[in-house]
This record gives sequence, C-alpha cells and structure tokens, in this order.
Amino acid sequence: KEGVYLEVQTTLYDQNDHLIFVRDVTRLHLLEQMRKDFVANASHELKTPLTVIKGYLETLSMFKDSLPQSMQRGIVNMSDQSLRMEHLIEDLLLLSRLETNDKREAHQWLKLEDLCETIKKTALPTLSDSHKLSFDIPENSYIYGAYNELYSAFSNLVFNAIKYSPEGGDIQVQWTQNEFSGIFSVDDQGLGIDPRHIPRLTERFFRVDKGRGSGTGGTGLGLAIVKHVLIHHNAKLQIRSQPGTGSTFSCHFPTDRVRQEALLATVASD
Ligand code: ADP
Repeated sequence: KEGVYLEVQTTLYDQNDHLIFVRDVTRLHLLEQMRKDFVANASHELKTPLTVIKGYLETLSMFKDSLPQSMQRGIVNMSDQSLRMEHLIEDLLLLSRLETNDKREAHQWLKLEDLCETIKKTALPTLSDSHKLSFDIPENSYIYGAYNELYSAFSNLVFNAIKYSPEGGDIQVQWTQNEFSGIFSVDDQGLGIDPRHIPRLTERFFRVDKGRGSGTGGTGLGLAIVKHVLIHHNAKLQIRSQPGTGSTFSCHFPTDRVRQEALLATVASD
C-alpha cells in the first residue's frame, strides 16, 4: 500500500527453513520525516533575523571607536557569536539537504589538486607556527562527485586536524589509489580520540568532551556532514586514533569514482 513502510529481515531457522520478520515502520518513518522537516524549516527561518542582527552590528562597528570600552568588547563578542550562529545554520541546512536529498548538486569529474589547493589557501592563515600542513596529491588524480559537498567534507577533516592539534605538529593530507579504492586521508599528531568514542563521532553535536570543541569555533556537525557526503558518494569513512598520539581520518571511494590519468584523454575515448 502506498505510504506504508515495512522493514523485512530474514534469518536461518534451521537447515532448510527461514524465518521472515516484517515490521511496520511507517510511524517511525513519519516521525523521522517530521524531524528532518523541522530542522530544515527552523534553520531556514533563523537566517532572516540573523541577517538583520548582522546588519545592525556592522553599522554599530563603524562607530565603535567613539563608544566606551565595555560596549566595544560587547560588539566584538556579538559579532563573533553571530558568525558562529551563521556557520551553525549553514551546516544545519547543508546536513538537511544531504539527508532529504533536496537541491542536490550535480556530480562531475573533479581534479583533486584544484580542490585541495582551495582548502590549503583557506587553512594556511589559521595555522600557528608549530603546525606544518603538507599535501601529497599525485598529479592528474580525479574524483567523480559534487564539488561543494566534497569541499565541505575534506575541509572539515583538515580543519579538525588543525583544531585538535593545539600543540601543533605535522598534518598530512594525502590521496592514494589502489585497485580497490581511492583514499583521501588526513593525518595529525594531535590530541587523539579514545577508541570508545570513535563509533559516536559522526553523530550530530557529539563531542569527545564538552571542553573540547566549544572554544574552537566548531559547530559539532562537521563529522555528521562528512558521513552524509560520503554516503552520497558510495564512500566510507575510516577513523584510526590513539589518545595523545594523533588521528587519521580516511575517506575510501570506490574505483568507479576515481581516475589517475589526464581527464581530457580519457573523456575523449569514453
Ligand atoms: P566539532 O565542530 O566539535 O569539531 P565535529 O563533528 O567535526 O565537530 O567533530 C566531533 C568531535 O570529534 C569533536 O568535537 C572532537 O571531539 C572529535 N574530533 C574530530 N576530529 C578530531 C581530530 N582530528 N582529533 C581529535 N579529535 C577529533
């Protein structure tokens, strides 16, 4: 029947027989849809008042120098917080677009060097002297996907590596390809993560500890976005980490989405 969602599971009962379980999950599905709609609508509605607040703050900032010190600090604080809220709303909207499959971007062949160059340009100004960020992306490596989504996923991993390496250290971004997959990986020598937290890292707003993340400007949605972007690209996230030693986040893409040769030549022969 239309509008009814069923979940079917089979298990081997004995040598010849199977048990089939059928569960009506329509209500669960409707509740999940309501949650997604609510998040999408609320995030969208929050954009307008925030734009107005930001507009007034910009005007106030122009006259900042003539105001008392305490008000000047207040304006800087409000500007920081409204920027944080803007990032949160953008992330919530992106996540709900990914979840609902709404307004999806077209997939195309993308040159990894170009994608990584843009990430590098944004990341470099945020590094401290004790960080060393290096990219090892072989020439003519291509990935088939949505530019903005992949940019978002990869840059989240790079910015996390920087944020969670407060003492600095090497951060290595790599692209490797073998017969099974193309792998984008980000390796850091930062705080690391206790293995018991790893399964929950891609949940919305999950943080390893409350202190970690709150002062870093993160929204708590970065890895949830990474997870959903990868689902849309038939890719998988692998996390390896050791507390106090560092972490490696790798995205494994299937071979039909990756190419390791000059694109024009291969497209022409398609
Ligand atoms: P946030 O905005 O808090 O960074 P994320 O979803 O990107 O949100 O990450 C979730 C949590 O995973 C972070 O709060 C942090 O505790 C942990 N985490 C993510 N990346 C790293 C990393 N490279 N090293 C250590 N911890 C990390």
